[in-house]
Amino acid sequence: MLIDTHCHLDFADFDAERDEIVKRAHDSGVKQMVTICTRVRKLDGLLAITETYPSVFCSVGTHPNSANEELDIQTEDLVRLAMSHEKIVAIGEAGLDYFYDTQTPEDQKTGFLRHIAAARETKLPLVIHSRSADDDMAAILTEETGKGAFPFILHCFSAGPELAKTGVDLGGYISFSGILTFPKSEELRDIARTIPHDRLLVETDAPYLAPKRWRGKRNEPSYVVNTAEVLADTLGLSYAEMAALTTDNAFRCFSKMPRI
Ligand SMILES: [Zn+2]
Ligand SMILES: [Zn+2]
Repeated sequence: MLIDTHCHLDFADFDAERDEIVKRAHDSGVKQMVTICTRVRKLDGLLAITETYPSVFCSVGTHPNSANEELDIQTEDLVRLAMSHEKIVAIGEAGLDYFYDTQTPEDQKTGFLRHIAAARETKLPLVIHSRSADDDMAAILTEETGKGAFPFILHCFSAGPELAKTGVDLGGYISFSGILTFPKSEELRDIARTIPHDRLLVETDAPYLAPKRWRGKRNEPSYVVNTAEVLADTLGLSYAEMAALTTDNAFRCFSKMPRI
């Protein structure tokens, strides 16, 4: 089996066929999924999905591209919400995104630090979104871990080797998406070869970033199979070995998520 550790099943892209998408995931061996929150104000919609599908779990948090919409959400709110429902198994996604300049770095950092504090307190993994922000991300992770460790995932990893090394050194997980499968992603595959096997995760980030076999189409959780295949090839493992490895890692990282 595989676990899609990061998708966005609440997005309107999936409204017309959510049942079919979850079924296709199961049929492809993707037995569990974590649908990731991008705005705390959308949490009720995510919870409704997790209550409809036993195999779907969720997170709570504010995406950095929406940071200034939820500056009223404090650490204690994140902690309270995270503990309020058995299907909330992670904090985030939060982080830094300097690729888009719709949000100031200051607002993004303010929100990110609250999410870090919530992860530290709840011991739930923090799903980190980091884009074009390697140096600031590495500095914050290093400084904040120094104040007290917290579990985290660098999701949809597409940054440089230094941030990967910092993440691993600080105890984090590195999650690869369909970007790993693209022909031009040779540097990313080189980075994947440096990650300890017990820190590897796979995800779709659906509806974005369909892997090579379905490139250009809307992504969905069943497609994480292609990313796991390429990651297995890259590391010289069999698909079955990669599936077992990333699934064990996912359950260790998302420690609140039971095996269904
Ligand atoms: Zn993200
Ligand atoms: Zn995402």
